[in-house]
Amino acid sequence: MPADVHTNEKPLSDGVLSFISSRESEALSAQEILTWGIKNFAPRIALSCSFGAPEGLVLLDMMHRIDPRSRVFVLDTGRLPQATYDLIDRVRERYDKPVEIVFPRAEDVEAMVRSKGVNLFYESIENRQLCCRIRKVEPLRRTLSGLDAWVAGLRRDQNVTRTETPKLELDAVHGGIVKLNPIADWTSDDVMEYVRAHEVPTNRLNAQGYPSVGCDPCSRAIAPGEDLRAGRWWWEDPETRECGIHVDEEDQGSGI
Ligand code: SF4
Repeated sequence: MPADVHTNEKPLSDGVLSFISSRESEALSAQEILTWGIKNFAPRIALSCSFGAPEGLVLLDMMHRIDPRSRVFVLDTGRLPQATYDLIDRVRERYDKPVEIVFPRAEDVEAMVRSKGVNLFYESIENRQLCCRIRKVEPLRRTLSGLDAWVAGLRRDQNVTRTETPKLELDAVHGGIVKLNPIADWTSDDVMEYVRAHEVPTNRLNAQGYPSVGCDPCSRAIAPGEDLRAGRWWWEDPETRECGIHVDEEDQGSGI
């Protein structure tokens, strides 16, 4: 995908726009929403998968069953744990599927770590959001500029910032393309049931207390009963714990 990035040039049809605004999608299953998305947008639709939580892998599996040519990309921040890289390779082999790896701009990362240090994110929210912007938000924006629709594994009960997540929405931050959140109404148990039933490969850190694995320095295991997102940027207030990828404000930082 990075090789053929181009701006979003295909306007959404009236049928697509009216279907989204009707909210009829709220009654559809995850598979039905993905089928609708692939039918309307392929090949300009792709799954954004962090390879750190089972939600993205469930969607990858579903999309692959619907269309083996379905696309998936991962933002390689340069700070991912080895377990995540291992999983990316397992997925490539299991599904015989190319995973589109997207890197941040090298010159931006170099300038940031030269002026603020390699572990800047622990020092302030501003530093953490700067790092997320450079390593995640900008690469995501660049990637989405070549798509008409993208798929994400958000669930409403994951965090206080996600309780209103619709199954289909227009993503105003990314040029008005369509964002599909097919498992917005799923519970964690629903996700794990699908994983077991379909033997979906998952990140081995999930079984070590990490429900959500992001960058290595910004992820930790959680204790039983803790909020599912408590292991991400745990030194910050819950309200600030988004990387900017799934929020409307450009200056929130970045993060999957
Ligand atoms: Fe940087 Fe941490 Fe954000 Fe990764 S999660 S981009 S290391 S601040």
